[in-house]
Amino acid sequence: MSEKYVHPTLGPMCPTCQSFHGDDACTFDPLAACALCGLPVGVLSLGGPNVCPACDSGVFRDGTRWERPIFSEHVDGGRSLRWLQAEVRQRAGP
Ligand SMILES: [Zn+2]
Ligand SMILES: [Zn+2]
Repeated sequence: MSEKYVHPTLGPMCPTCQSFHGDDACTFDPLAACALCGLPVGVLSLGGPNVCPACDSGVFRDGTRWERPIFSEHVDGGRSLRWLQAEVRQRAGP
């Protein structure tokens, strides 16, 4: 998709965050770390600007599903998040 997408009612799609905020300045930072896996979020997901699209779908960036549910830190003391981040680092390679 090289041409700028323009929604009939929402207007042009922001090429940075792929959402529709009209003429408002884009506040989305694609290099911000994902709250779950720690990698740059890249594009805006339905989960919001702090979660990457892969984590939002419960998969690694290679498309593999997480083998276990991920809980927020106050539920399991960060155990599942640490597991996720270790897996992500392993998959990203050295
Ligand atoms: Zn934007
Ligand atoms: Zn993520």
